[in-house]
Amino acid sequence: MNASVAPRDDLRALAGYHSPQLDVAVRLNTNESPYPPPDEFVARWVDELRATPLNRYPDREASALRESLGRHLGQPAARIFCANGSNEVLQTLLLTYGGSGRGAAVFEPTYALHSHIARVTGTTVVVGERRADFSIDPVGALALIDAEEPSVVFVCSPNNPTGTVEARSTIEALLEATDGLVVVDEAYGEFAPWSALELVHDDRPLVVVRTYSKVWSLAALRLGFAVAPPTVVEELQKVVLPYHLDAATQIAGRVALEFASEMVDRVERLVAERERVGAALAGVEGITPYPSGANFLLLRVAGDGHALWERLVARGVLVRDFSRWPRLESCLRVTIGSPDENDQFLAALRPSLQEVAA
Ligand code: PMP
Repeated sequence: MNASVAPRDDLRALAGYHSPQLDVAVRLNTNESPYPPPDEFVARWVDELRATPLNRYPDREASALRESLGRHLGQPAARIFCANGSNEVLQTLLLTYGGSGRGAAVFEPTYALHSHIARVTGTTVVVGERRADFSIDPVGALALIDAEEPSVVFVCSPNNPTGTVEARSTIEALLEATDGLVVVDEAYGEFAPWSALELVHDDRPLVVVRTYSKVWSLAALRLGFAVAPPTVVEELQKVVLPYHLDAATQIAGRVALEFASEMVDRVERLVAERERVGAALAGVEGITPYPSGANFLLLRVAGDGHALWERLVARGVLVRDFSRWPRLESCLRVTIGSPDENDQFLAALRPSLQEVAA
């Protein structure tokens, strides 16, 4: 190919984001909800969509959605920015506050898209290490912030893929230390015992990012949002493409909130299942589950994690293989599914472990 059509030099070394999908009976690899949204939600959504003039652009400000979401969260609508999945929220944050000559701090191991999107937006990635229990060490983090002065500090809590919930005091220490923006990615926040949403304030450089992809059972529709000071929301609105959020998604996000009590039940069921599966795994020789505040569990395998992943796939159970990732040697991540799916995973685990050990 002619060199003039080569991509940007700084993108050459970039690997794509890969989460292999296989056609298996039990899919516990992408942290989705095991349950589809309620039928009544779908009916209400389609009815509203039918009454929508499709020849017209959608509401550019997503006003109705942001008002409803604000009421649901106890936050003013002016603090809410919505986009196509929380990934687009993260991308817009980095386009606005990152970019050439600026840095974004991440604490590894964490959600790979934070550093991936940083690189795509020309932002320098500054890497901090987590402690052995995967929590962020505030002392090390402050030293990193002092030395590198990143414009954005990412905290993923609960952290993907480890499940670790960060202490409130750590978020407060990071806010104290940085002149940049602290972005707390709470894609799994509903499953955790506390949320940084309570710290969002008009005068504090804190952004909390959430998604409809997990609890709200709407991964297919792509809706995420940030809760941030109104000044930050205004900047994000300037950068994001006009009419980026289509009418179908805006309606879905608003109508879904009418089913909030059903979603609270689902969270309770999934948290109870997480505890049940975690306790069962703790009793399996050769498996160490890490504590999790999310809808998944990270496990360390005493032995060949990748071989175990293959044996599970052979039994129709797909989990996420992190065994070849730096800092996650021999680790697999399993999404909490329905009780039946979780039982199938647990039933497949013991014979798979025996085969790997043989
Ligand atoms: N943040 C984290 C930590 C995630 O795990 C995910 C989904 N894998 C996302 C953000 C993106 O979610 P979505 O774009 O579907 O909202």
